Amino acid sequence: MNDWLSLDRQHCWHPFTQAQTAEAPLPIVRGQGAYLFDDQGKRYLDAISSWWVNLHGHAHPYIANAISAQAHTLEQVMFAGITHPKAVAFAKLLVQHLPAPLAHVFYSDNGSTAVEAALKMACQYWGNQPNPTQRRRFLAFQGGYHGDTFGAMSVGRSSGFYAPFGDWLFAVDFMPYPTQWQGRPSREIEETTDQALGWLAHHLDHHAHETVAFILEPLVQGASGMRMTPATFLERALGMVRACGIPIIFDEVMTGFGRTGTLFATEQVGVVPDILCLSKGITGGFLPLGVTVAQPHIYQAFLSNDVAKALLHGHSYTANPLGCAAALASLELFSTESTLTRIAAISEWQKNYVSELADHPALRQVRYCGTIAALELKTDADYGASVGQWFRQQMAARGVLLRPLGNTLYCLPPYCVTEDDLHFLYQQLRTVLNQWWVEQGSAQPSGLF
Ligand SMILES: *Cc1c(COP(=O)(O)O)cnc(C)c1O
Repeated sequence: MNDWLSLDRQHCWHPFTQAQTAEAPLPIVRGQGAYLFDDQGKRYLDAISSWWVNLHGHAHPYIANAISAQAHTLEQVMFAGITHPKAVAFAKLLVQHLPAPLAHVFYSDNGSTAVEAALKMACQYWGNQPNPTQRRRFLAFQGGYHGDTFGAMSVGRSSGFYAPFGDWLFAVDFMPYPTQWQGRPSREIEETTDQALGWLAHHLDHHAHETVAFILEPLVQGASGMRMTPATFLERALGMVRACGIPIIFDEVMTGFGRTGTLFATEQVGVVPDILCLSKGITGGFLPLGVTVAQPHIYQAFLSNDVAKALLHGHSYTANPLGCAAALASLELFSTESTLTRIAAISEWQKNYVSELADHPALRQVRYCGTIAALELKTDADYGASVGQWFRQQMAARGVLLRPLGNTLYCLPPYCVTEDDLHFLYQQLRTVLNQWWVEQGSAQPSGLF
């Protein structure tokens, strides 16, 4: 083991990692385009956009230069009582790209804080009403993931990562989440969506008056395994929730900035949320930044002569100028590099490659949405299960960076990925799948795959 890896073991506590059993981490020293390079010069296709943050490729010079110029001009200033050009410019450009009437951008520094700010906005929105009512419950989807701070954990508790903290979390009702995949019979989808809508109707009859807000990941639940649901179902569910006057929060921390095929998933759902959370890809994957964007009626509920009615929430690095400069540059690239056209091409390639694999005997519930493709192994496995580690190692040895979620393998590439890159990835994946299936002893190899 080389020197800095042993120092890593001594001093670095890695996220979502059981240090006692984990493989040595990959020693990555450089990134370029869709590739990462280790200290031996071996390259890896970053098929998961470095945990869903990278958009235009690693070390993209346009964003790197924007950050560098900003660092030489104004690296940081507090955002209470002060403003700066990049925060204003990015907020303005972002709002131009969002559906009206989303208009008021609250900055923070990661996805969890973007969600916390949204939850607090919704709570205080009700508290600030002239005749405040007691609302103590949130509504969320089973399997939703919203981050790792306490509020975010509460609304994502059913995603299964939070056993040690269960007793500390606040009250949330979890609605059934109907999933769809390629070839799932439409009758089954109708049945599961009808069941979910029935659950919702019953729930709203009893609890609408005490519900603070409904928070959801639109179209695709990321961390619980790239689980997809039809836009038509969301539109109906959200229509029922809105009819009760309950604010809707879209957590687009993962789905935002093109992942689902449109710049934001909200465009496909046909419902504009009262509050929208963004982070991850917001800076193109260069720096931590989060935003919580509110409609005017939410923002206006905080206006008063009384400071206690304001949103008394903030973070030291709120609207950090480097982050804002990166975010602005990244969003500009969508125009100058025609990123949405690339996204359309990637979506088509993903659909084709995934469809080719759909009949593989080792797989079930193959699915895609925009640039995201997911395949489920025919085995049950929890997060961090050894089967995921095995696939990760096999694929890394072949020059592809994957990080399965339980038994779900997925590909969520940066938008500079080429058809050749994806062809290579799926070729390697097929070989590894064949090997796994044979080793499972569940089937004999055949010429079929
Ligand atoms: C990753 C994620 C978060 C949390 O973001 P962090 O920056 O990791 O705190 C919240 N919501 C969704 C949907 C996410 O995918």
